[in-house]
Amino acid sequence: MKYDYDIIAIGAGSGGLSVLERATDYGKKCAVVEAKEIGGTCVNIGCVPKKVMWFGAHIAEAIRDAKDYGFHVEQKGFSWKTLVEKREGYINNITTWYAGYLKDLNIDLLQGWGSFVDEHTVKVGDKTYTAETIVVAPGGKPLVPNETENADLGISSDGFFALTEQPKKAAVIGSGYIAVELAGVLQALGTPVCLISRKDLVLRGFDDMIRETLTEEMIKSGINKHYHFQAKKLTKEADGTITIESTDGQVIKGYDQVIWAVGRETLTDPLALENVGLSTNNRGFIEVDDYHRTAVPNIYAIGDVTGQAQLTPVAIRAGRYLAERLYNNQPELIMDLSKVPTVVFSHPPIGTIGLAEHDAKKQYGADNIKVYNSSFIPMRYAFTEHQSKTAMKLICAGEDQKVVGIHIIGDGADEMLQGFAVAVQMGATKADLDATIAIHPSSSEELVTMRPMILK
Ligand SMILES: Cc1cc2nc3c(=O)[nH]c(=O)nc-3n(C[C@H](O)[C@H](O)[C@H](O)COP(=O)(O)OP(=O)(O)OC[C@H]3O[C@@H](n4cnc5c(N)ncnc54)[C@H](O)[C@@H]3O)c2cc1C
Repeated sequence: MKYDYDIIAIGAGSGGLSVLERATDYGKKCAVVEAKEIGGTCVNIGCVPKKVMWFGAHIAEAIRDAKDYGFHVEQKGFSWKTLVEKREGYINNITTWYAGYLKDLNIDLLQGWGSFVDEHTVKVGDKTYTAETIVVAPGGKPLVPNETENADLGISSDGFFALTEQPKKAAVIGSGYIAVELAGVLQALGTPVCLISRKDLVLRGFDDMIRETLTEEMIKSGINKHYHFQAKKLTKEADGTITIESTDGQVIKGYDQVIWAVGRETLTDPLALENVGLSTNNRGFIEVDDYHRTAVPNIYAIGDVTGQAQLTPVAIRAGRYLAERLYNNQPELIMDLSKVPTVVFSHPPIGTIGLAEHDAKKQYGADNIKVYNSSFIPMRYAFTEHQSKTAMKLICAGEDQKVVGIHIIGDGADEMLQGFAVAVQMGATKADLDATIAIHPSSSEELVTMRPMILK
């Protein structure tokens, strides 16, 4: 072979590992470059540890509600340390398994930061490796704003997962999905939280029904919400707490942890993209076409670095399809990014696919869409002191009322959505949902029993 490898991926995260795993199915010689832990963000400092904490929070909520179901249960304490140790043990098992799996597949692990020497050569440490195809999948890192003075007194989501002690009081700055997830987990586990954001509602871009319901539920759960607050300066006080000042003179005091969750930036600096004539766009992403091709013919980019829906299954799908196109004679296989189901592990969770109402109105015209809403207290909370709402919205477009958006917030939304995503993927109409027999008693039955369209 002219090169050391058929294919090298830079980054052993969701994207890098999946393209190589599939490439080995077609007998390709592969290597992956990884500076940190195998598994990338999702396994080590993203989806997996986050979901473990969310399960912990769920147990706390069940204990809270247990008395209403007749249990004489008292929460006598909670050990953050135990939960974190168990979580890290679980993650260690995954990464150990991955290391063995890479060996079994004959994928070489090149440990260190990878940078381009030329379009077929990657440098790792003081060694160079060549490949016919190079896939860039470096993911990203949390953004800590440099315009805020002493911003580094706060931690990011990476720092949150490194906490070995439970914060006494935490201020989460941000309003995106990571902000609401971390705020929800902390509040449920007993850390009083304030959520600080520049705007009034959380989750910009989501359907308004979701944004309003979650904001309401977060306040109901005890989260102290500070709107219209742009952090200007952080100061550490003598008692160890942090004071946050805003650009317009507001002051928030007394929080021992400040957590930045204001977005993520791509991790492209170590790549030395200039050595192959590549650069990032003004948002820091490497631009790719539908086939994940960059401007250099043998170099592809997948995952978070491309700015496409920044989710693990999207990075995985991009990697697998790329291998299919390269090695399995399927040149036209591309992803449909218009139907990506997304879950936010908030309290309660959110599941959403397709267009928000405001986007559907723009795309189809307000007169061509029909919106179905439902909002209720699910049976689980019917007689509990704490009441958590469920709300659902179906957005249908055109004469045949094709389902172009489903938005759910409420217990079970996280598991409910996947099956409905299949229906949306297949082009389901409102009539298809109406024709589906409900599962009773459940929350999901609402989605197939919303006021049916009048059949002609
Ligand atoms: C707190 C949090 C929660 C999340 N929760 C979810 C969720 O619930 N569901 C979901 O779908 N997604 C979630 N995500 C997003 C998900 O983790 C990412 O979309 C996914 O990991 C992207 O995969 P990737 O392959 O692009 O990059 P990554 O998984 O980030 O992997 C990139 C890897 O490349 C390595 N690397 C970077 N540059 C170099 C270099 N030059 N040389 C060598 N190695 C390098 C990095 O160390 C890293 O291991 C979450 C993310 C965060 C931060």
